[in-house]
Amino acid sequence: MSAETNARARRRAEKGAKVLVVPFQCGRGHELSARTTFIATDGGPNPTGWRCVRCVRLDAWNAHYRGSESAPAELLDETQFNRQTNSKFSPGRGWTDRVRFLSGFGYEVPDPTPARRRELRDAA
Ligand SMILES: [Zn+2]
Repeated sequence: MSAETNARARRRAEKGAKVLVVPFQCGRGHELSARTTFIATDGGPNPTGWRCVRCVRLDAWNAHYRGSESAPAELLDETQFNRQTNSKFSPGRGWTDRVRFLSGFGYEVPDPTPARRRELRDAA
């Protein structure tokens, strides 16, 4: 995460706007990024919570098959996900600007391809 983003998030927090911090991974160990996380909002510019989309998919799979079949790997592959959009608000004014991902793959950076994400991870 860039220093500019941290400074911007801090300014918002100081003004009373809510900043949602999404942990690096969910309770099952799935990495959380803007691509693989659902952000709940108040219907306005404030994020109110997050859910791991991989967990939602796994729960739905297990409910459907009653846990009798393992979920196929492609169900959880990040290429099968799309980012949520913030179409109601102009850039810098919507809820996407008030979410911080500890994984570093948040809305402030363009959605990287899985290959680019692997490069960034390997370089870290
Ligand atoms: Zn998960």
